[in-house]
Amino acid sequence: MGLVVPIGAPLEELMAMAAKRVGLRPEELLGFRIARRSVDLRGQRSGRAPRFVVHADCTCPAEHGGRTLNRALRSGKVVEAPGLLPLAPLEVDGGASQRVVVVGAGPAGIFAALPLALKGCEVTVIDRGAPLEERGRDVVAFHRGRVPNPESNLLFGEGGAGTYSDGKLYTRSDDPLEEPVLQELVAAGAPEEICFDSRAHVGTDKLHGVLKRLRSRMEAAGVRFLWRAKMEDLVIRHSAERSVEALQTSQGELPCDALVLATGHSARDSWSMLMERGVEFEAKPFQVGVRIEHPQELIDLGRYGDAALVSELGAASYELVAKGVGAHTFCMCPGGRVVASVQAEGLLCTNGMSNSTHSSGWANAAVVGTVRPPVGADPLWGVEYQERLERAAFAAGGGDYTAPAQRASDFLRGEQSRETPHTTYPFGTRPARLDQLLSEELRSALAQGLARFHEQLPGFGGEAGVMVGVETRSSGPVRISRHSERRTARGFSNLFPVGEGAGYAGGIMTAATDGARTARALLGADS
Ligand SMILES: Cc1cc2nc3c(=O)[nH]c(=O)nc-3n(C[C@H](O)[C@H](O)[C@H](O)COP(=O)(O)OP(=O)(O)OC[C@H]3O[C@@H](n4cnc5c(N)ncnc54)[C@H](O)[C@@H]3O)c2cc1C
Repeated sequence: MGLVVPIGAPLEELMAMAAKRVGLRPEELLGFRIARRSVDLRGQRSGRAPRFVVHADCTCPAEHGGRTLNRALRSGKVVEAPGLLPLAPLEVDGGASQRVVVVGAGPAGIFAALPLALKGCEVTVIDRGAPLEERGRDVVAFHRGRVPNPESNLLFGEGGAGTYSDGKLYTRSDDPLEEPVLQELVAAGAPEEICFDSRAHVGTDKLHGVLKRLRSRMEAAGVRFLWRAKMEDLVIRHSAERSVEALQTSQGELPCDALVLATGHSARDSWSMLMERGVEFEAKPFQVGVRIEHPQELIDLGRYGDAALVSELGAASYELVAKGVGAHTFCMCPGGRVVASVQAEGLLCTNGMSNSTHSSGWANAAVVGTVRPPVGADPLWGVEYQERLERAAFAAGGGDYTAPAQRASDFLRGEQSRETPHTTYPFGTRPARLDQLLSEELRSALAQGLARFHEQLPGFGGEAGVMVGVETRSSGPVRISRHSERRTARGFSNLFPVGEGAGYAGGIMTAATDGARTARALLGADS
């Protein structure tokens, strides 16, 4: 049932409203849970107070009926379900005892490995990057010395690309496996709200604790982790279908019965090797743009109308779309920081992260448009496109990871900013013509988008908005062709491409569920 409640209403008030709706007293409900919660900010300018819209599930006694319930059912305000649906478990029935190697310890790899290990498979997870503790030191060393570690950085290492992120968990696909994934995260220390909040996020600080506990849980289930171990080649047996017999890694050969490829969207060198070994890739559309940063206060005021609401609702976020123009905002980090998501020397790419408290005082998001590969393009066309732009951004910033930047108002006017104000980007910024760095098509989409966003959120496209760039890795540029049910790579019997690097996910949750669903396919549970 849907309920509209004032912000800050206690759970008891919600239960009382739900019980009343079905004609019961709160203590007569056999079960109650919040299935979904979002904030309704409509009508702010005409003085209407913001409120929560809650979708609640309650369990009534079997014999319960009566006029109130019947009326609510007839009006559609309450919908009857045969009983709370059992959760689709991560653990599944199916053949076990296989030796499975998983390449990549990001969300796709983690949530493929866990159910396989719980089922009794002998699972080894390898990652070219470092475990969390060492990875943190490598990131700090990059910030101090301005020399990136190509194997351990913001993109590579335990937890994958989202380890230094806002930990937003609302890029979803409605896969029933989302619920058990979220519950695993809660069991590992993530806040319970992630199960129902429409703007669920964990934050980098809490995410690190969650990842450490997930690692312990996986190790207890028998998963072996090999850190700083890079997939270098495949040993393939050729018959009617190819099968991978072993994986050559920087730490030696690993024989396997099945190989899960969860390499993420920046394993460019691995894609070349996989193509040489006969794995079929295709170029796919991907997002490109810049990061934009504003004082958080400007966003709070624009969204809430009253900055005092921050104490009740937290720092405000936004998700803006310019329909018909092909520009939108993405990966918004309230109270966060702009980061250099760099894994190779001479390339510059931005992204964003925040801690759980959203308290930096600055708000950032990607403003992106879509780049479509030409018909018949080489599978790695998008990789070359990204690299060209990242190189140009590196040069425009002065070649030391200082980022090129431009005030939003100057981007719209087509002028270089005289100076750029403070941003949270760790290496500082330098005024540059970001509008000239992007293709004319993208520049035009972003400019039209900015103008629309400025109408939706006053100040967005003005002096206070600083664009820092470029942002080229909001999504992956390739897809590995895979069998839709078996989930094996075309022409292979035991190679399972998953997650964002394979082109089947665009965020933490979609990558995690793609991994979990592939584990089921590997075990034959979905056939
Ligand atoms: C800074 C930042 C912030 C983000 N914020 C969010 C957010 O708030 N919410 C959200 O939903 N998404 C966010 N994303 C996107 C999200 O992180 C990705 O969509 C998600 O991590 C993809 O998961 P994955 O498992 O497919 O790949 P990844 O997480 O990229 O993991 C791939 C792993 O494979 C390893 N690997 C690669 N090649 C090899 C090899 N040859 N041998 C061994 N190991 C290898 C890498 O080291 C890496 O650890 C963010 C991304 C970044 C970079």
